[in-house]
Amino acid sequence: MKVHLKQIPPEGLHLEGEEDCLIPELESDGVRCAGPMQYKIDVGVAEGSMWANGSLKQPVELSCVACLEKFIHQIKVPAFALHTELRGPETVDLSPFMREDLLLNLPAHPRCDREGGGTCKTTKVDKPAGAKQQPAAKREHDWGELDKLKLKR
Ligand SMILES: [Zn+2]
Repeated sequence: MKVHLKQIPPEGLHLEGEEDCLIPELESDGVRCAGPMQYKIDVGVAEGSMWANGSLKQPVELSCVACLEKFIHQIKVPAFALHTELRGPETVDLSPFMREDLLLNLPAHPRCDREGGGTCKTTKVDKPAGAKQQPAAKREHDWGELDKLKLKR
């Protein structure tokens, strides 16, 4: 995903859209993009460098490490940020930065109950009824969980 520097006004630019899978080589590891990456970022140029911040989401199909079932998981990068020196005259390619952040937020040992929100065949623990939420509410919940995970690091 390349940003043309000439298109960035002094006050910055908001970019929102979809981008093709940036991690296709992970298919051999059982991680398959299940749709395009969605991004919402602000970019700007100041004093010979470029900054960007925003959020990324990439739906992927993963295999549960416990029951081996495939499930869909959203890789979320809630605080994508970069600051890079301007080397080339025309464009900056954001893809390597986005790729790196997606990889950092990819679960190393994905489980269908934890990342997929389902019930893993290998666990017999019943979730309380209150845990079942509407899809929209669940997404918010997931963001919160991710934030908690980040704080623990
Ligand atoms: Zn499972």
